[in-house]
Amino acid sequence: MDKFIGYRCSLCGAEYLPGQVTYTCPKDGGVSLSCGGNLDVVLDYDSLRQKFQPEDITSRTDESLWRYLPLLPVADPGGEGTPLRAAGWTPVFSLPRLADKLGLRHLWLKDESRNPTASFKDRASAVVLARAKEIKAEVVVTASTGNAGAALAGMSAAIGQKVVIFAPKSAPLAKVAQLLVYGARVLLVDGSYDDAFDLTVKAADEFGWYCRNTGYNPFTAEGKKTAAFEIWEWWAEENRESRIGNSTDESLISNLDSRFTVLVSVGDGNIISGLHKGFKDLAALGWINRLPRLIGVQAEGSAAIANAFHAGTERITPVSASTLADSISVDLPRDGVRAVRAAGETGGTYVTVSDNEILAAIAALGPLGIFAEPAGAAAYAGLVKAVEQGIVSAEDPILVLNTGFGLKDVRAAMQAVSAAPVIEPTLEAVKRSL
Ligand SMILES: *Cc1c(COP(=O)(O)O)cnc(C)c1O
Ligand SMILES: [Zn+2]
Repeated sequence: MDKFIGYRCSLCGAEYLPGQVTYTCPKDGGVSLSCGGNLDVVLDYDSLRQKFQPEDITSRTDESLWRYLPLLPVADPGGEGTPLRAAGWTPVFSLPRLADKLGLRHLWLKDESRNPTASFKDRASAVVLARAKEIKAEVVVTASTGNAGAALAGMSAAIGQKVVIFAPKSAPLAKVAQLLVYGARVLLVDGSYDDAFDLTVKAADEFGWYCRNTGYNPFTAEGKKTAAFEIWEWWAEENRESRIGNSTDESLISNLDSRFTVLVSVGDGNIISGLHKGFKDLAALGWINRLPRLIGVQAEGSAAIANAFHAGTERITPVSASTLADSISVDLPRDGVRAVRAAGETGGTYVTVSDNEILAAIAALGPLGIFAEPAGAAAYAGLVKAVEQGIVSAEDPILVLNTGFGLKDVRAAMQAVSAAPVIEPTLEAVKRSL
């Protein structure tokens, strides 16, 4: 495991060895500045660069995030033949009809709802479980608005790891059903996600559980970065023809179009930070020469990170979150600083969308065969907004991430469509209603 050489605090820059810390930066900066910053996992990029060429990764046969094991700070967790081995490697769909509608040339959607428990969170949970196995954690615990818990429960069930999930009692029923069916111990907290988060940290401390919490456990971003690796591989494949005839001394897949833009919805800010980390890893390896623009999309009613970004500060002021997109409903984002940087350092930005715009996005994606939960559709709603505001232009190649499956929140889905008429079982009634 010598490729994993330690952690660096994203706030104060303090460095730690792998065994020295577990969650956030423990440094006490004194009265004026107490740390607690998110820790970035540091890999030994020099030795990785010497050991691997891009082809060593792209020629691997695993059709899951485990194809990137050489670039992850964990050992192989095993679990062959189980859903744990099926996380990641999600499809990218081309959306020419929506591209036309928006006046764009190139539009794709990477469908993370195709993960084993139907959200992006499987990536994080899979890699945290690999870490849990290495440190021989008996119980893994997480706070969740639903998807992180479902992912942890589902991935754990696959390999027999004990887990406890704290979710707000307002979590959509389908997500709670997933937790229970996967056999997790579930505690519904009479409070918000933020209350559940704080309680989880206390419980982990009290009972010696290993805590997966998003934006707290450094390994969640490591799991999420695998989506960036997939985008990199997909983009190379997409552009293969235009590379033919190019000079051969250039690494095969180093050229990202300068306007290539990825849009993703943002709650705690860990997905966008994870994507950023993945692209930074690739740059550190010399396998890409620029990072795609990352545009974060927040709900208007839960926009603490977008607010900070547009105020030009890394200081995140909590909001009192209110949006129907439960997966991105967060008062105090736990990965806010890195999320602000993910957009800032890639030439991206933040846009906010209303709940009605999110519902319209669900209705726009559905007829293409893509059924997104509100937080998943929010990224597309953000693209519509970004086009209106001139943030993206016609020639920009755009990739939107759908982070979660529509059946997770049927109540919201039904608000996006008009109800079906109920008719008498007669042909006349059919004729009348057509
Ligand atoms: C968790 C989640 C998000 C947001 O991810 P953050 O890391 O909290 O920013 C977006 N969409 C879905 C479906 C999610 O479950
Ligand atoms: Zn620190």
